[in-house]
Amino acid sequence: MHLPVSAVPPMAFAGSPIDRADNIRVDPAALGNLMNWRARVLNLDGLLPEFDDDGRLLWHTLADVGEDTELVFLGMMDDRAHFAPVPVEGASGPAMPRAWQVMQMLQPEDLALYGGARSLIDWHARHRFCANCGAPTKPAKGGWQRNCDACGAQHFPRTDPVTIMLVEHEDRLLLGRQPRFPPRMYSALAGFVEPGETIEEAVAREIHEEAGVRVRDVRYIASQPWPFPSQLMIGCTSVADDPEITIDRTELDDARWFTRAELEDARAAGPDGNEQMIFPQKFAIAHHLIAWWLDQ
Ligand SMILES: [Zn+2]
Repeated sequence: MHLPVSAVPPMAFAGSPIDRADNIRVDPAALGNLMNWRARVLNLDGLLPEFDDDGRLLWHTLADVGEDTELVFLGMMDDRAHFAPVPVEGASGPAMPRAWQVMQMLQPEDLALYGGARSLIDWHARHRFCANCGAPTKPAKGGWQRNCDACGAQHFPRTDPVTIMLVEHEDRLLLGRQPRFPPRMYSALAGFVEPGETIEEAVAREIHEEAGVRVRDVRYIASQPWPFPSQLMIGCTSVADDPEITIDRTELDDARWFTRAELEDARAAGPDGNEQMIFPQKFAIAHHLIAWWLDQ
């Protein structure tokens, strides 16, 4: 028996309250009319958001941003147009420790709005030149496209699909440790979907590559936008018949089977975990996938 997908709670970075209003993106006159004193512009520190003590995003007006600032149209909210500025410099650099802190301080709706804006403006910052001919590109359609005048190519913001998956064998789950994880942290195995693959094929390939385990019955459970820089995490479950593990040490420090009781204990131990394991944090889809399995 499986719980319905609706039993998975809302994910961090999901549930943005903004109306994307794509009909306005393609209408320069309508967009121009909305660029008035009521419009709001996301207040950013590089790629990081600025926010108040209640975890609400801070916003500028158009009067606060320079004439040369490149703006993307995020959408409509409270009958106002909302924009985000594209940083002048290409927005590389991890800044992840600050980003993790920020994620835990923002209200859920503001986190979702910020995550979408972050992915979009980061894409602009890294796509100033045409991938086809190398000439400079210009934003179009409210910032949901970039055009190259030199060769006529049109470029669109991309979302990269990543599968993240539970593997089940006789009431145990296969979890692994990436070298970058904190000590004792175990999570669901994950990997990018490659060209020419279905989601199901990517799940099976990744598990076999990383842990040497063959799986069947891959099923979709839930997804999560992950704006670092622009992944879509596709949460799945699968079943293994043979539990023999062969770890790919270039990908994983460790992989092992956890019993239901072990996972329950680690979850109950909270963010610092117990002696054996730290359960994935709540902002990660892995937390919700494992919790979903445990609560069946
Ligand atoms: Zn070009």
